[in-house]
Amino acid sequence: MTKNVLAVAELKAGRVAGVSNEVATVARKLADGLGGSADIVVAGKPGTAAEAGVEALAAYGTERVRVIESEALGPGCVGAHAAVVADHVADAGYGAVVFPATTAGKDLAPRVAAKLKRPLLTDATELEAVDGEIVATRPVFAGKALAKVRPLGAPALVSIRPNVFPTSVRQATAVVETVDAGRVAGADGGYRVQGFEAAEGGAALDVSEAAVVVSGGRGMKGPENWGLLEDLRDALGETAALGASRAVVDAGWRPHSEQVGQTGKTVTPKLYFALGISGAIQHLAGMRTSGVVVAVNRDRDAPIFGVADYGIVGDVFEVAPALADAVRTLREGES
Ligand code: FAD
Repeated sequence: MTKNVLAVAELKAGRVAGVSNEVATVARKLADGLGGSADIVVAGKPGTAAEAGVEALAAYGTERVRVIESEALGPGCVGAHAAVVADHVADAGYGAVVFPATTAGKDLAPRVAAKLKRPLLTDATELEAVDGEIVATRPVFAGKALAKVRPLGAPALVSIRPNVFPTSVRQATAVVETVDAGRVAGADGGYRVQGFEAAEGGAALDVSEAAVVVSGGRGMKGPENWGLLEDLRDALGETAALGASRAVVDAGWRPHSEQVGQTGKTVTPKLYFALGISGAIQHLAGMRTSGVVVAVNRDRDAPIFGVADYGIVGDVFEVAPALADAVRTLREGES
């Protein structure tokens, strides 16, 4: 098996998305473990090499940043994207390929796997080389158990859960090179993207990128009470964002873009507040990767306290304003 590893970068609105740094870091570490080299591939419209910020990827330790440009590789052109990535993997003969398990990655990676007639290990939360073999860890049964899986044969195709693998910058100078797009013209993904629209409140910090998350659950009683959480978020500063449980999103109290959990987003903030959230396993699946967890619930037996670093048994309508006041006082003392 060749020991070289390829990371597949993602573009968002024509720019390299942050998750690309994660796949680059993972590919580097895997290649180190296998004793091979690491590349990252970026596929996009003509001008990507010059305008997408690809040179910043060089800091994450891959030997080469390979840019594939074609008119057929615009946003949403997943069929063409899958074709060029699969061709590139087959031509260059990689031993492993690392995709992001983002929404776009979940569309792309299975298509590449089908073209290469290879299995795909999805949503890995750990990836390592053990005695020259790749071992992926994948949560199963909504995170209740972790399966360690060893792909057989090559290339091993693995997608990694975003926001789980820390990035690491190296003192490396990757070569940025352009690769011929080859047979890309006319490749069809089975659907055509008509356009993109920003979601309502799209300008706000995304919950998956926030350093602090203030999440509310059904214990908040209704959307009219979200002002309490917004106040706590504002007190915590501009790195804080709002999150929500699925019960709240299903009830239409908050947008799906804020949902944390198995069918929502995975978050990795330094600080996570769970207010009026019971701590169902599907919610924990999205926030277990948080640094410090603070839970407020009036039920002392709520499962959320099992993962909380700090638990406050109390009424969220009293505790949330008190927390916001305390944070403000602390921050004023600092400045
Ligand atoms: P509840 O379970 O109703 O909990 C409300 C909590 O608020 C209770 O613990 C209660 O004690 C507390 N409370 C009530 N009043 C107060 C008060 N005044 N002060 C303080 N505390 C109070 N859920 C997710 O969150 N994310 C997901 O991605 C997700 N995906 C799912 C996927 C599948 C396939 C399935 C089956 C379920 C999924 N769920 C998900 C749903 C999940 O199982 C729970 O139903 C949901 O997380 C419950 O939301 P909650 O904690 O807000 O509500």
